Amino acid sequence: MSADEDPGPPPPPPRLRVAVVGAGPAGIYTAEALTRQQEVPVAVDLIDRLPTPFGLVRHGIAPDHPKMRAIRDTLHRALDHPAVRFVGNVEIGRDLSCPELHAAVDAVVYTYGAALDRQLGIPGEELPGSLAATALVAWYTGHPDADRARVEAALARARSVVVVGVGNVALDVARVLARTPAELESTDMPQHVLDALAAAPVEHVTVLGRRGPAQATFTTQELRELGELAEADVLVDPADLELDAAAEERVAADRVVSRNLAVLRDWAAHTAQPGRATVTLRFFARPVRLLGEDRVTGVEVERTVVDADGRASGTGETTVLPADLVVRSVGYRGGELPELPLDPRRGTVPNDLGRVLRGGAPSPGEYVAGWIKRGPTGVVGTNKHDARETVATLLADVAAGVVRPGGGEDDDLVAALRANGADPVLLEDWRAIDAAEVALGATHGRARTTLHEWESLLAAVKEAAARTR
Ligand SMILES: Cc1cc2nc3c(=O)[nH]c(=O)nc-3n(C[C@H](O)[C@H](O)[C@H](O)COP(=O)(O)OP(=O)(O)OC[C@H]3O[C@@H](n4cnc5c(N)ncnc54)[C@H](O)[C@@H]3O)c2cc1C
Repeated sequence: MSADEDPGPPPPPPRLRVAVVGAGPAGIYTAEALTRQQEVPVAVDLIDRLPTPFGLVRHGIAPDHPKMRAIRDTLHRALDHPAVRFVGNVEIGRDLSCPELHAAVDAVVYTYGAALDRQLGIPGEELPGSLAATALVAWYTGHPDADRARVEAALARARSVVVVGVGNVALDVARVLARTPAELESTDMPQHVLDALAAAPVEHVTVLGRRGPAQATFTTQELRELGELAEADVLVDPADLELDAAAEERVAADRVVSRNLAVLRDWAAHTAQPGRATVTLRFFARPVRLLGEDRVTGVEVERTVVDADGRASGTGETTVLPADLVVRSVGYRGGELPELPLDPRRGTVPNDLGRVLRGGAPSPGEYVAGWIKRGPTGVVGTNKHDARETVATLLADVAAGVVRPGGGEDDDLVAALRANGADPVLLEDWRAIDAAEVALGATHGRARTTLHEWESLLAAVKEAAARTR
């Protein structure tokens, strides 16, 4: 080139290629934070093991909460961004290992959630008729890995149900089980779920809290909703609402707890009405054993006392509650992804402001956000702040030269996946699933019906592809 020849515009700076593992709220908010910043041009692959995005917004939030579930419309905007590519139907750890993924991109953000349930650790827990809330929720939201046979066998006999735990998930479960078919008719639950719930003979649901009402973690809106059920009455023993000085202090200091107490006190005057189901909230009660030979028939419950620090201990005084179905809802925890560290006690990946720690030291180019970073707490929006913190950490590492944009070709990852025998589902394919769900719902006058089988999800993709060929 001669000295006076125009060299043209400089080449664009290389893009930072980021793979985000898990297209739940944390993964989507991570993609959004990456595309909203101006410092570094990015290309984001948003990977999920399911052919559908949204994580627990699709397979956690209760289907009878359509307004809450509508947050998916807002989340979808991040998926539509031109710098973001949805890569569904790809399980990291199976279709591609963590090191293989890391080699294909400049940085990886793990946002794979905390999908495992915590156990009660009591005898009888494995009996048929005993379910984790994770199993029941996966089933009623149409997760393609749900264990239909186990859940439906348990529900078919469920006249008396005991739900262990007093968080919002426990209330979701109690409410869904106590609803009438008419109350669930317009939801996006799969038809077989609506049919099985309609056929379940549920008459009594007891929600058990090992501590007192001042320590329960449910929110007032969710609590209040129990009182609005069409054909079930909520019952509370007034004795459970007599608080000691420490609990009174807690009530005075916390507005949510004080509102909860007001709602519960209203219900303490209720009595069961003939012909209606009941939902009983029982506090200071912990299960010590599930009873039954070849299936659950009851729960042995021990009365507890709660100390000034809010810790419960048993009194030795036990009673038996009849139960055909026991649902434990005592928390979620993260599972291990091969070749990624996990703190087994907390069920989270060890990290510092989102930087993955290996042997206590930051691992360059590896990050976490969402439930697998901080544990299963908070609402959907909590993951937004959490993802922003992680992205700020990642950008700081780019500025410090710890992570360098390499600017690989867009097709690298998908090509590597196809070479490994995977069948990635991209955004257009997800749109085909979305359209198929809306069309299926319309056949029953509903806005949507969830496709709940791997075959039908992937068939919707293939049928749409065949139509456009
Ligand atoms: C039953 C239930 C009800 C809830 N209801 C509400 C509510 O009403 N309102 C509210 O604000 N919050 C609610 N929450 C909380 C909210 O859903 C969570 O805060 C949020 O979903 C956590 O986001 P996440 O992205 O960390 O995890 P998730 O939402 O779990 O997303 C993780 C994603 O990672 C994918 N994944 C897992 N492993 C892999 C892998 N190996 N490779 C690729 N992908 C993988 C999963 O398929 C999933 O899509 C509820 C939670 C539960 C459990």
